[in-house]
Amino acid sequence: MVRNAGQPDLYDIESLLSEDERQVRDAVATFVDDRVLPIIADCFEKERFPSELIPQMAELGLLGPTLSDYGCAGLNSVCYGLIMQELERGDSGVRSFASVQSSLCMFPVDAYGSDEQKQRWLPEMARGNAIGCFGLTEPDGGSDPGTMKTNARKRGDDWVVNGAKMWITNGTVADLAVVWAITDDGVRGFLVEKNTPGYTTRDIEHKFSLRASVTSELFFDNCKIPAANQLPNAAGLGAPLSCLTQARYGIAWGALGAASACYQEAVEFCRQRVLFGKPLIEKQHVQIRLADMLRRITTAQLLALQLGRLKDAGTMHHSQVSLAKWNNVRMALDVAREARDLLGAGGISVECSPIRHMLNLESVITYEGTETIHQLIVGREISDKAAF
Ligand SMILES: Cc1cc2nc3c(=O)[nH]c(=O)nc-3n(C[C@H](O)[C@H](O)[C@H](O)COP(=O)(O)OP(=O)(O)OC[C@H]3O[C@@H](n4cnc5c(N)ncnc54)[C@H](O)[C@@H]3O)c2cc1C
Repeated sequence: MVRNAGQPDLYDIESLLSEDERQVRDAVATFVDDRVLPIIADCFEKERFPSELIPQMAELGLLGPTLSDYGCAGLNSVCYGLIMQELERGDSGVRSFASVQSSLCMFPVDAYGSDEQKQRWLPEMARGNAIGCFGLTEPDGGSDPGTMKTNARKRGDDWVVNGAKMWITNGTVADLAVVWAITDDGVRGFLVEKNTPGYTTRDIEHKFSLRASVTSELFFDNCKIPAANQLPNAAGLGAPLSCLTQARYGIAWGALGAASACYQEAVEFCRQRVLFGKPLIEKQHVQIRLADMLRRITTAQLLALQLGRLKDAGTMHHSQVSLAKWNNVRMALDVAREARDLLGAGGISVECSPIRHMLNLESVITYEGTETIHQLIVGREISDKAAF
């Protein structure tokens, strides 16, 4: 079986990648092997975000990698996907950090910000000196952001924001929150800086999932935001949804990494484990289960790569992203559960990666649009009728 940088490769996906794409993937794979895998089980167990990884991620150009200015690498979307794939082979929490920084914070500043906002934030974010978070979800329901209650009212030249956001990745560690609020003119985006009076954050603790990632609540109590901190080119809900399309694209790739890690660990275990006089891998039923895992991973790999090629060609549609996020995260969750089971009792230990990936993927299947929401987006594409 051919393997590339930790991924099974039955269909020679390697031959479909350019030399540059392979190099980027291999550099991230090495970083994950050397720096992430040795510490991640402990981080997960202790509910600790490994912030010590940020400088090296920045040095490797993993923060805002598709932007071409501000010290960013100007990579294509397939490279971005491969970065997410390798990071999530380490842990969905590490990938979530990079996704939020790149797709949910640097992307909106670049796409909707003023020149001054871009100059001030993007180089610092690329260097990992400024961390971002993205505040869209509210306590009353994340799937329907159009009903958000967080509001911004004009007072003189400033804005006054009131409300709360919940389940926000990087919230308490962020220097900058990209916050979406309803105004008299519809939804608008604001850059809320750490330590702004009236802005407070609190960690959400006791999670069973994404334990190596910071998840927070954001509170706005008559929080005064200067007019210069409004994103001037973001008007309406389409702006935050466009950020989600970027991040969901990365998740479709990231899920491949989590699934591959689980699959490889299951194969290795089944080679070693001797039961009823034979290694498990020689049993017909075990082979069928492993073959089914590989079938799912392989089809998801091809889906992600074609999605990336469409994105690089500028023709990608958000319903294609929905189908890929839905398919690939479901695939990864199923593969992780299957691998967990094949590992037997040992599979419930934090020493084995499938249970960690499986628990993480319970968040991944919910955030950035739940599985149901993505099914309904594809359903709307088929029927021309929204059934949300
Ligand atoms: C670890 C983690 C990190 C996160 N990070 C961020 C972040 O950085 N920024 C951010 O803004 N948000 C973030 N989120 C929030 C996430 O995007 C939301 O949890 C998600 O959108 C779902 O919203 P909800 O949890 O309020 O569930 P709800 O919207 O209340 O949904 C509950 C259930 O109802 C189902 N449902 C919804 N609508 C329909 C319908 N029309 N028909 C049938 N069923 C339906 C859903 O599929 C789900 O099963 C994060 C979440 C988690 C768990």
